[in-house]
Amino acid sequence: MDAGVEAIVDRIPADWDPNVLELAQLRHNVCAGYKVEANIQQTISRALLLTRARPFARVLQDAEGGSAEDCLDLGQRLFVGYGAPKDQDTALEYWRRIVDPTHPRYLSAGVSRSSRARAHCCISRYWFDRRIVGRDEWNIVSLYRAALNADLAASLGLIFPNVLFVAKIIESSGFRRPEDNRFPQHSTKRFERLETLWAVADQRKRELEEENRRRDRKVAKAPLAYMCAAQGCGIEGTKKAALLQCAGKCPRDQKPSYCSKECQKQDWKRHKLICKPSSTAGSSETPQQDTSLTAKPELPDEFSAAHFNPAGMECRLDMPMPDGSTVNFASKTMSPAFMKEMREHAIEKLSDR
Ligand SMILES: [Zn+2]
Ligand SMILES: [Zn+2]
Repeated sequence: MDAGVEAIVDRIPADWDPNVLELAQLRHNVCAGYKVEANIQQTISRALLLTRARPFARVLQDAEGGSAEDCLDLGQRLFVGYGAPKDQDTALEYWRRIVDPTHPRYLSAGVSRSSRARAHCCISRYWFDRRIVGRDEWNIVSLYRAALNADLAASLGLIFPNVLFVAKIIESSGFRRPEDNRFPQHSTKRFERLETLWAVADQRKRELEEENRRRDRKVAKAPLAYMCAAQGCGIEGTKKAALLQCAGKCPRDQKPSYCSKECQKQDWKRHKLICKPSSTAGSSETPQQDTSLTAKPELPDEFSAAHFNPAGMECRLDMPMPDGSTVNFASKTMSPAFMKEMREHAIEKLSDR
């Protein structure tokens, strides 16, 4: 091991707090096909298993021994500060070994296409994070490096969420077409030339449009299954299974769905009239056992922070925007309660203005 490597090992405290969520999210964004559902619980347990099986020092040793997979893994751990203090510049160096022939430790042989694509995607993420340098001031060199590496990853035939995200931001900032350019001091020419990136971005747009049309048709058939029935809640499920259905004896065509047990409780006074036709108003304040909800998997205790959506099912909520419009915000990782909290903050902030 050379001195630089030893320095990294020396800085690892014995009781280093594992930054496992960030590592899991990074891995999902730069290493998983874009169609892989974001299941945070699963990604976290996988990240934990992997890192327990392969401690940092071991990965470091094998990365130094010339394993591209370990260079990728090591870079990701350093990027988020998992198992060692955060060091993104060193992370970049390990990823460059996989794809950059000018790097002194370039791995010229035996590197798979998938490792190269993932390394490009990691490098894209590194530069993308460095695009904003000030208020309304962008570092165009960093932005271009992010775009180029996303394009190179896509050219290897693998499309990761981060590739699509980078394409989306660059397009919406006006760098894809000269007529959209918001930064006239910078030319968009080299961005326009990233043909593979724009091809996969357009392909994804068409897929999303088709997915939305399919969803709209399903929602039209069974609207109650996609919308939390509690008054004022506003949470919608992208899929039927994202919400919990009342398991009581209410008629099938009026069966309500809820985003949470709290919402079910809140709605019970109204709903019990059709769910338990014999009961009189006010006789029961909470749902009975026979009206329990269909179960969602629970997170292990150590990760049961209230803002996670353990099942990884996408929920949607209309969020008010400063310009008076609303945006339908969707998340697979946030819990409905946390999304509503965000909406409350947004409303509060807007009313302060
Ligand atoms: Zn709700
Ligand atoms: Zn019911």
